[in-house]
Amino acid sequence: MSAGQSYRLLFVSTPLGPLGSGAGGGVELTLLNMLEALTQQGHQIQVMAPQQSQLPQAEVIPVAGSPQIPAQTQVRHTPVHMPENSVLANMWLQVQTLQSEFDLIVNFAYDWLPLYLTPFLDTPIAHLISMGSLTDAMDQIIGQIANQFPHTIGVHTQAQANTFPFAEHCYSVRNGFNLDLYQFTPNPEDYLCWLGRIAPEKALEDAVAAVDQTGQALKIMGHIQDQAYFDQIQAQFPHANIDYLGFLDTTAMQEVLRYSQGLLVTPRWVEAFGNVVIEALACGVPVIAYNRGGPAEIVQPGKTGWLVEPDSVDGLVAAIGKLPEIDRQSCRQQAEQEYSLIAFAQRLEQWFAKILSQPEQ
Ligand code: UDP
Repeated sequence: MSAGQSYRLLFVSTPLGPLGSGAGGGVELTLLNMLEALTQQGHQIQVMAPQQSQLPQAEVIPVAGSPQIPAQTQVRHTPVHMPENSVLANMWLQVQTLQSEFDLIVNFAYDWLPLYLTPFLDTPIAHLISMGSLTDAMDQIIGQIANQFPHTIGVHTQAQANTFPFAEHCYSVRNGFNLDLYQFTPNPEDYLCWLGRIAPEKALEDAVAAVDQTGQALKIMGHIQDQAYFDQIQAQFPHANIDYLGFLDTTAMQEVLRYSQGLLVTPRWVEAFGNVVIEALACGVPVIAYNRGGPAEIVQPGKTGWLVEPDSVDGLVAAIGKLPEIDRQSCRQQAEQEYSLIAFAQRLEQWFAKILSQPEQ
């Protein structure tokens, strides 16, 4: 196999929940974007995913079983967990049966098992690692596979790679989006947006604290992963002008996002990429983000948004005041230049070609 050829690919989805549920976070959209990017280039793709997945764009092989526990809840020395009748284990049992039909398997799970299984399968696996370093057990197995199977560890940004002891073995593919789905909107209305999984590592409370000071409205969209955490934020800021709209599909979500003055991106952790940053830019919406992780590699301060001292609510407030200085057209332009599906497909094809040109192990 070499670049320029058509690959037969098997995507093995996140075991956190069905596609379309939001439980998989940014990985769900990343999988769809990869599917569209590579299908447009003539590659043939099948997707294996938990039962009840919604993915009209492809043939899905549904697999039953219990979802995996989100890795974000784990700490450094947490051992590997597997639920009874694990959907992750069930998916990889099927991969073993189907593997000969494919040139390459793409793993979207941030889990120990598929990494561990790599040497046991005949078909090569591209592991797309969706988060930075969280546990020693994951670091150890990813590092081992990075050494034994060169180029097979893909990441989204250099900042994410740098959280691992084996940063130099990671291949950064960033991300790409179907930009036609996001409508450029030159004239915003008087509100800000916050998007994402509602979970402590995303620090929604900082965005709410900022609008509590400025008095602006904040529209919040995303999957509630931790209801108690969300309840606590609402109790903490009873007078903040916030409006939770639920977890919306991309079309409905961008209808709200595109009229906002800016998107607040406030993660406490090193965000691997931050899909929502590009979704905002694609609508012409400037991004205010903490100066850490993936968003710090994307946002161009003064041009497409502002980067703020991490965890500083005052910094967010000051940056909100400077949003009118950003030309919304520059935001859309950045998305088009760097994060289109075609640009993404080229990066992915280069990655796959590197994996597939390796001598057999
Ligand atoms: N999202 C969505 N609907 C919503 C809110 C968010 O589809 O109402 C999606 C958004 O498009 C993005 C994902 O949720 O793809 C969040 O991904 P991100 O990379 O920002 O963070 P992650 O959850 O992976 O940590």
